[in-house]
Amino acid sequence: MVSIAIDGPSGAGKSTLARRLAAELGYVYVDTGAMYRSIGLYTLRAGADCGSEAAVAALLPQISLSLEYQDGAQHILLNGEDVSDAVRTPEVSMAASAVSAHPPVRAFLLETQRELARRQNVLMDGRDIGTVILPNAQVKIFLTASPEERARRRFEELKARGEAVTYEQVLEDVVQRDYNDTHREAAPLKAAPDAVTVDTTGLTFDESFEALLRVIRARVEA
Ligand code: C5P
Repeated sequence: MVSIAIDGPSGAGKSTLARRLAAELGYVYVDTGAMYRSIGLYTLRAGADCGSEAAVAALLPQISLSLEYQDGAQHILLNGEDVSDAVRTPEVSMAASAVSAHPPVRAFLLETQRELARRQNVLMDGRDIGTVILPNAQVKIFLTASPEERARRRFEELKARGEAVTYEQVLEDVVQRDYNDTHREAAPLKAAPDAVTVDTTGLTFDESFEALLRVIRARVEA
């Protein structure tokens, strides 16, 4: 099986690019962020403190996550409910960032993610795919862009969905989540030593897509 790992900070364009690349290559796209978001959503709904490791760990046995693919798009089911859209709010983004710092949450998702890669060719995106989940991935990409550029893209996306946010709020969230993701003790966000870093600041979507496809094609016959 071939595994392609794409890691990087929020808003670097990972999920949109990864989805398109997976379709181009005929691989299964696995959005691991959606799994952390679902645990964040469950914790919020339970009225528990996302920052408390013990509180979140106590909820894990009640959580069952599964992925379904409809027309090539990944849908995430939380205890059977399709929460693909519900997990995309700024509130759930922050909750995901908080719960993802807890080692029991990471352990809970580790085996699920590895199992998906054992069964099929995958293009998996996240924060620790190349470093922790799939250290033997044939291709590792660290995708990044400046915080301002990432905030601008996310702001446009949220605005298009009708969310009432300002650019300043989004930038603040991006900076906060970068800090959380890179400073946590459990599997912090960092490039694997053998990852190729691609910076998409100033690149269009198509240019980014082509750059990633070149990196992949140089390493696997896809
Ligand atoms: O990629 P996305 O923005 O959907 O991820 C939401 C949050 O989940 C991130 O801020 C990060 O804290 C966490 N995450 C993680 N490890 C992953 C994927 C996401 O810690 N593999």
